[in-house]
Amino acid sequence: MIRWGMVIDLKRCIGCQSCTMACKTQNGTPPGIFYRKVLEQISGQYPAVRRVYLPTQCMHCENPPCVESCPAGVFSKRADGIVLLDSDKCYGARVCRIACPYNAISFLEKMPTYFPDTVTPIEAIWYENHTVGTAGKCDFCADRLDQGLKPACVQTCPTDAIKFGDLNDHQSEVSRLIKERKGYQLHSEWGTNPSVYYLS
Ligand code: SF4
Ligand code: SF4
Repeated sequence: MIRWGMVIDLKRCIGCQSCTMACKTQNGTPPGIFYRKVLEQISGQYPAVRRVYLPTQCMHCENPPCVESCPAGVFSKRADGIVLLDSDKCYGARVCRIACPYNAISFLEKMPTYFPDTVTPIEAIWYENHTVGTAGKCDFCADRLDQGLKPACVQTCPTDAIKFGDLNDHQSEVSRLIKERKGYQLHSEWGTNPSVYYLS
């Protein structure tokens, strides 16, 4: 059985935010809503300073606290490990946002538009899939995967920093990278067993 997973090479990430924009376009999210974020941090002391980028998103945890937390049964886990969020069932309790330790769930408080007092034609199409008062998050581009395509962020990254594949296949590129370069999960001590790994 496949278990989809992602490996992000922090040595290759240049913080260009192309993946962030690809995600926003793929999911048609309004201003202020990000299913994927690239965090920036300055480390060290002058003159030996370094800017570090950390792309983050839903980690598609094997043991996802969000699933149990929701009183409306909004979350489900597919056999391939993808954690889905059905916003049609969401009534805005927002406990999932507290339960998720990775701050991966967005909540649409209101529907802002990219330009004042107007909804562009593309926004009119995008926003049909978003309801004020509901939660949203990354789904590893499940629809694209089901068509044999890569997630939009993976497809778009200009430095090839994001790899995607089957964590259960020991021969896959993601498994090989995790093994050879000691890939790690964010806060593995929390016991959620994320499907997103990082390489430093
Ligand atoms: Fe980093 Fe690639 Fe995202 Fe650019 S597109 S911020 S290089 S992961
Ligand atoms: Fe759920 Fe958060 Fe884990 Fe994603 S990162 S599966 S939203 S607990």
